[in-house]
Amino acid sequence: MTKAMIIGGGVAGSVAAMALNKAGVEAVVYERYPHAAADIGAFLTFAVNGMDALRSIEANTPVIGLGFPTPTLKFTSGSGKTLGEIPLGGNLADGTVTQTIKRAELYGALQDEAQGRGVRVEYGKKLVGAETLSGGRVRARFDDGTSDEGDVLIGADGIHSTVRGIIDPHAPEPRYVPVLNVGGYASGIRVASEPGVFHMTFGKRAFFAYTVTASGEVWWFANPPRRTEPNAAELNAITDAQWRAELHDLFEDDNTPALQIIDATRDEIRAWATYDIPKVPTWHRDSMIVIGDAAHATSPASGQGASMAIEDAVILAKCLRDVPDTQKAFATYESLRRDRVERIVAAGARSSNSKAAGPIGRVLRDAFLPIFLKKMAKGGDKSAAFMFDHHIDWEQPVAVA
Ligand SMILES: Cc1cc2nc3c(=O)[nH]c(=O)nc-3n(C[C@H](O)[C@H](O)[C@H](O)COP(=O)(O)OP(=O)(O)OC[C@H]3O[C@@H](n4cnc5c(N)ncnc54)[C@H](O)[C@@H]3O)c2cc1C
Repeated sequence: MTKAMIIGGGVAGSVAAMALNKAGVEAVVYERYPHAAADIGAFLTFAVNGMDALRSIEANTPVIGLGFPTPTLKFTSGSGKTLGEIPLGGNLADGTVTQTIKRAELYGALQDEAQGRGVRVEYGKKLVGAETLSGGRVRARFDDGTSDEGDVLIGADGIHSTVRGIIDPHAPEPRYVPVLNVGGYASGIRVASEPGVFHMTFGKRAFFAYTVTASGEVWWFANPPRRTEPNAAELNAITDAQWRAELHDLFEDDNTPALQIIDATRDEIRAWATYDIPKVPTWHRDSMIVIGDAAHATSPASGQGASMAIEDAVILAKCLRDVPDTQKAFATYESLRRDRVERIVAAGARSSNSKAAGPIGRVLRDAFLPIFLKKMAKGGDKSAAFMFDHHIDWEQPVAVA
C-alpha cells in the first residue's frame, strides 16, 4: 500500500496522516473547511490516554502547552452543597494530567504538525462520493468536481460522516442526547476557584461547569435540557440575547457564580445539539474504513471523543503497517478497538443522562452521588480506569486477528 486518502482534517484525520507517514505510507488529507476554522466557545478536556497516543508518534509536543491542567472535578448541587471531589482522568508516568484546550487550537496544532512532517492537506475539499475500483483501489469524489485515487480511503469525517453512509447505506444516524451545549470565555471577574479544578454544578434546572485559567479567564459550559431535537436552523435562529435570557432563567435559583460568568462572557453565545452513536455495525467495506467520531461518537460528557479518535488513528496505522492484506488489517483494527470504544460511548451516555434528570431522578442523583464520589475519591471505584490506562507502543508489532 502506498497511498491513503483521509477524509477530514480534524483530530482523527491529522493524526492518522502523521501515523501513516511514520509507517512509510503517503497520506493526503481532504478537509471541507479552510484551515482550523474558529470555533467560538468550544473547548475540550483532553484525556491522558490521548496524550499517550500522540506521544507514541512523537506528536505530543505541539499539544502540550496549548491548554492548562485540570486534573480535578468538584461537584456541587444547585443549593451550593458540595457533593464530592474526584480526579479527572489519570496521570502519565511523567506527571501529565488532563488538559483543557480550545478545540480550534487543538485542530490547528495537529494540522500544522502534520504539514510540517510533509503531509499534504487539501482544504475546501468536501467529499461527496467514493467507489471501489478494480484491484481494490478506491476513488474519492469532491463537490468541486475533482476526484482522486488511492489504495485506501479513511473516513475521519466526524459524527455526521459521509463515508459511513458510503460504506453502509443502512448505517445508523447519530442519536440525539436530550441536552444542548453552550459555552464561552468570561473575563474581568473574580470567582471562587483553585488551580486545576473544574467546578461542576447539577443545578435545579440545568448543569453548569467552569474552570479558571492562570490568567483569570473563566472557561464555562452549560447543558440546557431539550427533550426534542432542534434542527440546525432552529438553533441558529436563537440570538445571543435570547440565550443570555434563557440561561438567566435556568440558573437564577442556583447558588453558583453562573450568572456572573454568563454576564461577563464577551463573545456571542451559541449552542450545539448533543449526539452520540452507540454502535456502527459496519466500520469497513472493500478499501474504505471509518475512524473517530465517524465510527463511534460519544457524548461530550465522557471527555474521551478526541482521545479515542487519536488512539484509532495510531492503531489503524500500525495495523496497515504490520498486516500486509488491507482486509485483514481492517479486521485486526476492529478487533482491537470495538469493545473499548463502545464501552466508552456507553459510559458517556450514562453521564449525559444524569445531567438531564427529571425531578425524581435529581433527588436520587443528589442522594447517591456523594456516596459514589466518596468511593471513587478513595480509589474504591475502578470502573473508569480502563479509559485512562490505555497505552500504545508504536514499536510493538500488531498480531493479525
Ligand atoms: C460541545 C462538544 C464538547 C466536546 N467535549 C469534548 C471533551 O471534553 N473531550 C473530548 O475528548 N472530546 C470532546 N468532544 C468530542 C470531540 O470534539 C470529538 O470526539 C473529536 O473531535 C472527534 O474527532 P474526529 O476527527 O473523529 O472528528 P471531528 O473532530 O469532527 O473532525 C471531522 C473533520 O472532518 C471534516 N469533514 C466532515 N465531513 C467532510 C467531508 N464530507 N469532506 C471533507 N471533510 C469533511 C470536518 O470539517 C472536520 O474537520 C466534544 C464535542 C462537542 C461537540
